[in-house]
Amino acid sequence: MKRRQMLHSSTTATAALMGGALAAGCAAPSTAAPGQASALFELPVTRVPIVGEREQFPVRRIYCIGRNYRAHAIEMGSNPDREPPFFFQKPTDAIQYVAPGTTANHPYPPLTRNYHYEIELVAALKSGGVNIPKERALEHVYGYAIGLDMTRRDLQRAMGDEKKPWEIGKSFDHSAPIGPIHPVARVGHFARGAISLRVNGQVKQNADLSQMIWSVAEQIAKLSEAFELKAGDIIYSGTPENVGPVVRGDMMLGRIEGLPELSVKVV
Ligand code: MN
Repeated sequence: MKRRQMLHSSTTATAALMGGALAAGCAAPSTAAPGQASALFELPVTRVPIVGEREQFPVRRIYCIGRNYRAHAIEMGSNPDREPPFFFQKPTDAIQYVAPGTTANHPYPPLTRNYHYEIELVAALKSGGVNIPKERALEHVYGYAIGLDMTRRDLQRAMGDEKKPWEIGKSFDHSAPIGPIHPVARVGHFARGAISLRVNGQVKQNADLSQMIWSVAEQIAKLSEAFELKAGDIIYSGTPENVGPVVRGDMMLGRIEGLPELSVKVV
């Protein structure tokens, strides 16, 4: 019920404000204060289906954890003993939903000649806050999904070399393929378990969730020191080592123990 209200909140708020304006005998909409104006056009809310539920999960923000597995941090040229993991964001409309049992066509993006996969566990939050203690962090998790943090590695590296933001390498259209969200009530929490990615049947990434430097609980605690987390936020929790390129025609098959596979074809 609460989620449905959220999806319709703009309409409801507008109606309420208009009602108030009429009751107060206010002037024509053209002179209305900004708070009383309706939107020029409606924007879609990005939503991800939930296993076993009719309602869908509305996505507010996509946070990503960088260099959260030691071996991946090293392959990216950093020292995990000196440099802790960190955050970046993708826009919510970067989500590409992939239904289990189907293969999604994923468009090879423009500008890159080195397009990389990163298989990741994704945590979806039902609530949030600031300075959330690690011990209570998992109470905010609604569920989990399997996702890909697709990366234009050449552009990411070039921007890094110039000490510029990663945006163009990470935060582009369709860069966040994701499977459905599995409620904690059905699958529990993910502290360990195999995580892998095959390309054209060949194992490329193969690790265990227990190798994450920051656990999901720690990710939430750390993020909430920097940002106020809210319901609808999702967190891509970082990728293990052996990231690498795909080209058009490649088939990627992601697996996390306890979740259905994620199947994506690059087109
Ligand atoms: Mn990543």
